[in-house]
Amino acid sequence: MRIVEVFDTTLRDGLQVEGVTATVDDKLRIAEQLDLLGVHYIEGGWPGANPKDIEFFDRAKRELSLSTSTLVAFGSTRRPRGKSDDDATLRNLIEADTAAVCIVAKSSEYQVTQALNTTLDEGAAMIADSVRFLHGEGRRVLVDLEHFFDGYRQNPEFSLRTIEAAVVNGATHLVLCDTNGGTLPHEVHEIVSSVVAHVGSDATIGIHCHDDTGCAVANSIAAVQAGAGHVQGTLNGLGERTGNTNLSTVIPNLQLKLGYACLPEGRIERLTSVSHHVAETLNRAVNPQAPYVGSSAFAHKAGLHVSAIARARDAYEHVAPETVGNGTRFVVSEMAGRASIQMKADEIGISLDGAQINDVIDRLKTLEHEGYQFEAADASLELLMRRAAGEVPEFFRVESLRVITDEHRDPGGDDRFSTEATVKVWVGTDGPDGEDAERHVYVAEGNGPINAIDTALRKAISQAVPEVADIHLVDYKVRILDGATATGATTRVLLSATDGARDWTTIGVSTNIIEASWLALEDSLVYGLLHRRR
Ligand SMILES: [Zn+2]
Repeated sequence: MRIVEVFDTTLRDGLQVEGVTATVDDKLRIAEQLDLLGVHYIEGGWPGANPKDIEFFDRAKRELSLSTSTLVAFGSTRRPRGKSDDDATLRNLIEADTAAVCIVAKSSEYQVTQALNTTLDEGAAMIADSVRFLHGEGRRVLVDLEHFFDGYRQNPEFSLRTIEAAVVNGATHLVLCDTNGGTLPHEVHEIVSSVVAHVGSDATIGIHCHDDTGCAVANSIAAVQAGAGHVQGTLNGLGERTGNTNLSTVIPNLQLKLGYACLPEGRIERLTSVSHHVAETLNRAVNPQAPYVGSSAFAHKAGLHVSAIARARDAYEHVAPETVGNGTRFVVSEMAGRASIQMKADEIGISLDGAQINDVIDRLKTLEHEGYQFEAADASLELLMRRAAGEVPEFFRVESLRVITDEHRDPGGDDRFSTEATVKVWVGTDGPDGEDAERHVYVAEGNGPINAIDTALRKAISQAVPEVADIHLVDYKVRILDGATATGATTRVLLSATDGARDWTTIGVSTNIIEASWLALEDSLVYGLLHRRR
């Protein structure tokens, strides 16, 4: 089995994506995850380009103990007409104190003459001198040949000359970069094949692609099939513009479909959790539709698929989801038939008879018609099924609730909205119909209507159901469903809560935003209480 090295550049190229920043702590945590996944190389950043990356390499030395991966510092070749031994960039690379370094080098005639404004001889000398210097300092040297494919199409002799300059001076890896991301798979295959034929076994050929044509993964595979032995990319395809090669996709393609060894034995199962962990750290959720690792990657919604998959797992799944640490998920919706409801009930552990399943299906159809969507609100779906099975006790019964919001206009300009909620509720140790049931009336203020209702209700029921104190609301999302009718539109509220041990999401839909919120809140508390009592 041929080994294909995985080089992760999430911490360098990946962080070029708009809207993402990482602290030094974030970067250290991500490096640990990448090591856990088992990539060969982790590119940590560009020491010297910013103080944060200097701090990263400094702390990495003391705080990281990588067991699988080699940390790499990134930099560039020396300046045109400069000297290697007094070049600040090269000096910073040495001071980062990593076993391997990766330097970017210009390998296209156009880039050397136009961007660097120097001669081709000097362009080749910059590579030769820099590699010799770093190699002489005992570093493993990888060279990122920027704009390689564009340059090769224009002047292949010069591009091959830059490769020779790197190899004869000690570079172990020549990474061909499709910097502008415009190359297609057949061109990558052709050019990589001729480079591999030229270089032979003197160095490993690597591939670094960007996804500007949507072909970064396909291009990387084409390069490997043409003889490349090293693939660069980022988890979840993070990166400038359309992103880099998505390692979460290319690794399983190479390893599971084509039989290359990318990760050590037993590591690819960690792919989904590491991809999500890294995404969470960078506060950028994994695209649900991402191949292999997305939450929808193995989710089945249509009734026909679900009943077929209930009989044979591989009927609608291209690989077993567990091989990449993901799982089959059945999405219940109005399209779902009896089989998906039955499977969902089995998954949760509810036993429903035929009539109860029909009830659930009827209820789902009605609610989805009103704008409910249970894909993201598993807790409301579970309550719906448990109610059909008669398993949900009544913890409290609300007689009425009232919310008042008013604005205090202050002449000094310090306007202030205040909100007050009044809740009338029946509770008792045996529920609102029990012997000791009582009516409680509570008033509370809040920073908004939902907060005020939540506070008043909790006060009203806390004596009878003290577990309510363990339930905390963590997120509140509002969406307008039919924008055309503007303020008269239907509102969908998703409410997320936690009790520390589990997280859940409930849903409420109404033309009245307070009612929608209340429905989601009531379900949220009932779900939480149900599981605290079990
Ligand atoms: Zn790049």
